[in-house]
Amino acid sequence: MTTNIRYGPDPIFMTCPFCNKPITTVIKTKPSKKTHLLALILCFLGGCCCCCLIPYCVPSCKDKLHYCPRCDTYLGTYAN
Ligand SMILES: [Zn+2]
Repeated sequence: MTTNIRYGPDPIFMTCPFCNKPITTVIKTKPSKKTHLLALILCFLGGCCCCCLIPYCVPSCKDKLHYCPRCDTYLGTYAN
């Protein structure tokens, strides 16, 4: 099992360590801790509910989770 893979913001071509097949990773995004923190800060500074929703709409504020499209196993995360 390889551990020195660098997961980037884009799908990567690799050999899945679980099913041992050449795959291109599937990316799913989820809000990171940073997203929630940023939302909280914006909420305090802006005092407006709309502002604190911005980080949830910006893809770069979210973690990108790489999954294997064959066995649907979680492979790694690209965090901003
Ligand atoms: Zn796999």
